[in-house]
Amino acid sequence: MSLWLHGIGVARGIAIGRVSKISGTDLEVREYFVEPDEVESEIARYTHAHEEAKEQLREVRAQIPAGTPQDIAAFIDTHLLMLDDHSLSEAVMGRIRDDRLNAEGALRQARDALMAVFEQMDDPYLRTRQNDVEHVVARVLRILLQSERALPEPDDSPPGEEARIVVADDITPADIILLSQQKTAAFVTEYGGPLSHTAILARSLHLPAVVGVHNARRLLRDGEQLVVDGAAGHILASPDAAALTRFRHRIARDQRYQRRLERLKDEPAVSRDGTKIRLLANIELSEDAAEAARVGAEGVGLYRTEFLFMNRAELPTEEEQYTAYARVVAAVTGTITIRTLDLGADKQVDSGARSGPTPNNPALGLRAIRLCLREPELFRTQIRALLRASAHGRMQIMLPMISNTLEFRQARRLIESCRTELAAEGHAMAESIPVGAMIEVPAAAIAAPWLARTCDFFSIGTNDLIQYTLAIDRVDDEVNYLYDPLHPAVLALIQQTIAAGAQAGIPVAMCGEMAGDVRYTRLLLGLGLTEFSMHPSSLLEVKRIVMDADIAGLRARVDRALASTELAEQRSRLAELDAQ
Ligand code: PEP
Ligand code: MG
Repeated sequence: MSLWLHGIGVARGIAIGRVSKISGTDLEVREYFVEPDEVESEIARYTHAHEEAKEQLREVRAQIPAGTPQDIAAFIDTHLLMLDDHSLSEAVMGRIRDDRLNAEGALRQARDALMAVFEQMDDPYLRTRQNDVEHVVARVLRILLQSERALPEPDDSPPGEEARIVVADDITPADIILLSQQKTAAFVTEYGGPLSHTAILARSLHLPAVVGVHNARRLLRDGEQLVVDGAAGHILASPDAAALTRFRHRIARDQRYQRRLERLKDEPAVSRDGTKIRLLANIELSEDAAEAARVGAEGVGLYRTEFLFMNRAELPTEEEQYTAYARVVAAVTGTITIRTLDLGADKQVDSGARSGPTPNNPALGLRAIRLCLREPELFRTQIRALLRASAHGRMQIMLPMISNTLEFRQARRLIESCRTELAAEGHAMAESIPVGAMIEVPAAAIAAPWLARTCDFFSIGTNDLIQYTLAIDRVDDEVNYLYDPLHPAVLALIQQTIAAGAQAGIPVAMCGEMAGDVRYTRLLLGLGLTEFSMHPSSLLEVKRIVMDADIAGLRARVDRALASTELAEQRSRLAELDAQ
């Protein structure tokens, strides 16, 4: 019998394949005492597993194909570094020797103790390391338990629909890389959110993925046929013949459609009634710049710099940041909008959705610009690197999570003081570097007319704007169903922000996921948005809609829809925009 399961689609595409369940990080560990004469052999078991884990990671490292973004290798290097650090091994061996625990039990206890230390840390960046500890320990545990390898053995099955679809509780970034090389058609996990490293890598590697499918491993059988719809966030197990035919048609149609879209690459993004729309790319890894160019993006509307800071033992130095930013600035066609560090809350990566609410409400805490203003040295290092990199192309600096004008002014002052300092040191910099604010906190959208007087541009971050407006944690899959870009409150805030920008004569872009979601393109055009920044894979489809749009007509229809106080009527009028 067929079975539909629902989760969160984090990487688009439809895949048909066979279920291959793997154990991820939540392994069952038995804890027991060993006899005194078994202690040495238990230590030897641990040492062997530890060495084997390192060997596995080195193998993964060596197998990274040419052309894979360099930042991906850094994920693996971090895990290797953690294994090279003696403190974990010493803690495990101490527990085996002193407490006469079995190796698995000792390793789990050492892991829990280490995680507790990270949990206490005030620094949100350091707290993100918990997830790496979990992944590294799981790899050693898996070997100890002689359970399945992290990944199935290389697949000998015929290509196409027999490719494996990996189903796991969670998948590490290192394993994602291996999976992408082993005829894996897609993956499904029980936990995680769209912002986990794993999800981000899946998108970069074009691997369809659905996360947050609760009980997937219990409900699916190994070898069972499975369809994954990475855009809709659904999976269908044991599809019947009719469903299979439908999905095969969709795959074929998607491929034809993609080929047609590619012809639009060099066409100008101008609506039927002559409005020029700027279509920009969001990039996460510096190598994504090539993908942006491939789809003809006019520039980059959001370069998330967090990835340079994650999964590593030390913070990047000014020199390292400068090199990375200069490379990406030079690689991008057009202007690149670089966002300053947005660490904290959801950027604490993979297991955020699983750990549930934390007592101190991290999404409302010290994240993004708040963290940077609190840690001026961290911020200054990044700003200096950015200003130096500005000499290599056209750059704008964007500040995340601005909630009032004071924050913006403080940040701008700091940028100016870095500029003066660098000029005195003789560094080259661009003459003009616009500084703008992300509008992603409702207060900023409401106060947009005031903020607009101090900012050079706005960019609407709908991922957070929706989270904060509707009070739903964006990485908590339990409340994901409430995540609603069409909520009248969200639309009002977007409308106000666009209007405030127009009034003040500053550009307004949108760089949240909504900008790349074709279901909302006509609505956003009708709201007066003229700059869209999105994952490169959506850009040509958005361009097709732009080229086909009559913006004046859309404006009138959107105004009429929004004027309706009947919610059902408003929704159906908005839905009709798509049916044109
Ligand atoms: C947003 O909040 O919409 C956004 C683009 O930023 P991020 O998803 O990185 O928080
Ligand atoms: Mg955001």
